[in-house]
Amino acid sequence: MTSRAYVGRFAPSPTGPLHFGSLVAALASCCDARASGGRWLVRIEDIDEPRTVPGAEAAILATLARYGFVADGPVVRQSERSALHDDALARLAADGHLFECACSRRELEGAPPASSGERVYPGTCRDGIAPDRAPRAQRSLRMRVGATAVAFRDRLQGEVRQDLAREVGDFVVRRADGVAAYQLAVVVDDEDQGVTDVVRGADLLASTPRQIHVARALGFASPRYLHLPVAIDPAGHKLSKQTKARELPHDPLPALLDAWSFLDQSPLRPRTPGEFWAQAIAAWAPARLPPVAMLPAPRSAVQL
Ligand code: GLU
Repeated sequence: MTSRAYVGRFAPSPTGPLHFGSLVAALASCCDARASGGRWLVRIEDIDEPRTVPGAEAAILATLARYGFVADGPVVRQSERSALHDDALARLAADGHLFECACSRRELEGAPPASSGERVYPGTCRDGIAPDRAPRAQRSLRMRVGATAVAFRDRLQGEVRQDLAREVGDFVVRRADGVAAYQLAVVVDDEDQGVTDVVRGADLLASTPRQIHVARALGFASPRYLHLPVAIDPAGHKLSKQTKARELPHDPLPALLDAWSFLDQSPLRPRTPGEFWAQAIAAWAPARLPPVAMLPAPRSAVQL
């Protein structure tokens, strides 16, 4: 097998300012790329319009720049790539992987959850839309899942296996508003940008088998995956705007060092962010990463 030159990426959604959890993903993805002699890209995942906050993208990019992150290429926006997403959807449809679904959110909320807590699509529209639903104009497109489990080896979390039919069901690849769903867009964009390595939080681990399923159907080689421990607050919640995660401080060095030690990397003694980056890339050791799905965030990252 010829191995492609390493391309990594950080793909924030512009739903608010960066917090400690996002810094961990940005730092690890960047160090892993640089230490491998690879390229590192930034992609703004702004297709989920209701969640997109005006000004968040500019704030994220300003913080990344202040913290010393430099992307190896122009920043791309997912919202500007709908033609690529639509082409992929057309290909999947032509190959018989998709079906229209007229179920309402309310109807789907009644489906029984799998052990993960995720609601499993009950297959209502899989074999066609029932006549009483035919007048409904709002339709999503779902991707059929097969009977076999999807398995992959995560560089940190080890063997991961998910029976898509039992744990997820046929999933949405184009939303009822016509926009590509995250599970489709992320696969198409990673492939288009030549991404070989995805380094991101373990909160996305349960989505990865869906993304592998999409990639296989489109004939793409899936990237390697490394799912990092997610930073949680004292109540056990993933840091997010809703859980009052603090916006990253203006001064980069203490936060970079906190993120570095959260990742269990060997201690560094930089005096400036520039020194931090040189030392961090030289010292980056994926074998030291804690092989767990979550870890407490440092106190400085959480508003108590
Ligand atoms: N945009 C996603 C998020 O901010 C990350 C997607 C990914 O890394 O694949 O949660």
